[in-house]
Amino acid sequence: MEIQHGYLEDLMGRVIRRNPAEPEFHQAVREVLSSLVPVVEAKPVYIKEGVMDCLVEPERIIKFRVPWEDDQGNVHVNRGFRVQFNSAIGPYKGGLRFHPSVYEGIVKFLGFEQIFKNSLTGLPIGGGKGGSDFDPKGKSDAEVMRFCQSFMTELFKYIGPDTDVPAGDIGVGSREIGYLFGQYKRLRNEFTGVLTGKGLAYGGSLARTEATGYGLCYFTDNMLRDASRSFDGATVVISGSGNVAIYACEKASAFGAKVVAMSDSSGFIHDPDGIDLALVKRLKEVERRRIRDYVEARPSARYHEGCAGIWQIPCDIALPCATQNELDAASAKTLIQNGCFAVAEGANMPCTPEAVEAFQTAGVLFAPAKAANAGGVATSALEMSQNSMRFSWTFEEVDAHLKTIMTDLYHNASAAAAEYGKPGDLVAGANIAGFLKVADAMLAYGLV
Ligand code: NDP
Repeated sequence: MEIQHGYLEDLMGRVIRRNPAEPEFHQAVREVLSSLVPVVEAKPVYIKEGVMDCLVEPERIIKFRVPWEDDQGNVHVNRGFRVQFNSAIGPYKGGLRFHPSVYEGIVKFLGFEQIFKNSLTGLPIGGGKGGSDFDPKGKSDAEVMRFCQSFMTELFKYIGPDTDVPAGDIGVGSREIGYLFGQYKRLRNEFTGVLTGKGLAYGGSLARTEATGYGLCYFTDNMLRDASRSFDGATVVISGSGNVAIYACEKASAFGAKVVAMSDSSGFIHDPDGIDLALVKRLKEVERRRIRDYVEARPSARYHEGCAGIWQIPCDIALPCATQNELDAASAKTLIQNGCFAVAEGANMPCTPEAVEAFQTAGVLFAPAKAANAGGVATSALEMSQNSMRFSWTFEEVDAHLKTIMTDLYHNASAAAAEYGKPGDLVAGANIAGFLKVADAMLAYGLV
């Protein structure tokens, strides 16, 4: 897909040359630049003053060695990353991902997306992301602790409550955040809100665990209602069975939907009677087991090896909540043929560009990740506010803020799409609305 603008297409070429072999980063930049064509045509100052060129170059990338010892005394060395992409509107904010697939290109793609997502929340947070190719799966708690302590022993030099506030992502849940925060506190001799997603006993926010999944459903609910549709009575398929997927399932069910399938990186379960979420929570959150074990307790459900097959299950609404590029054009075609009328991205960039195009061409309602899954980071920013105030809001108060943020976010993205000649195109609307605030702040600073 060529960008229909000479300067932006040339800029894309430079991004590819300067960041070779980073296809996920190229994919994320191309999508944003394509959406911004009408914006730079209306306001060429963004090109003239160098905003576009600065936008695609991270302010800083930190890459470091993470040595750690396993329970048998063997030494392992992983790589750690933190990409501090853009601090125009606030301290860098974005999660840490621990997964074997992590390399610089993945962290850059996620950090780039995070700039626009964070801007869209309306809160004062810049964009960053980090992680490691360490795999917490199959490791003991002691091994995970030693890894996290080693990771933070380097990272702590570059972060702080007014500089950069990491959170969780794939492979980084409350256990990892606890170890990371404990080590930061020990090294700095300070108790500050430097990480979000913390436990409730030490500065965490109620409703942060639920926020991304709930927020996804609040956003989708707005999108559905604008199209005279509803979760109520709809059949829903959700990929993944991690933090985002579990709470998307909980809220979609509360809205009256029937969720019939979930997955992990090995395979998926199909439960036509409706997913037993308490069982999934026990397996995944408490016992750290595989999704295939679900069928032991629910003989009416079926387990299938492999992930992509989940999109063959007929549904009204699909919520991809596992990982990037997990839903391709062929899966999109199957969903469309089976009558799916809405897709909302809970994971970051789960649909390939070809899949997004297929949905939009077929008139399927489509909610892009950087808008639809912004509830997690928005609630992280609320956790930062509570930490600064040394005060805690109730679950209901945080949830009410989240709902308002996601509703405003939907309307802002929708309005930006209409204003720039792309009514109903929430991909363009989210990119444009997220960009404008950051770009205007960058303009105000001059060349920095
Ligand atoms: P978790 O680690 O809690 O869960 C991830 C889920 O996705 C697991 O079921 C995992 O299966 C599955 N998965 C991971 N990698 C793959 C893969 N390569 N192929 C297939 N399935 C895979 O992560 P989260 O739920 O926190 O994150 C899920 C997505 O949501 C990510 O894209 C993340 O960036 C995004 N996100 C998360 C936010 C949050 O607040 N947590 C906020 C905004 C976005 P398995 O257990 O087998 O690995």
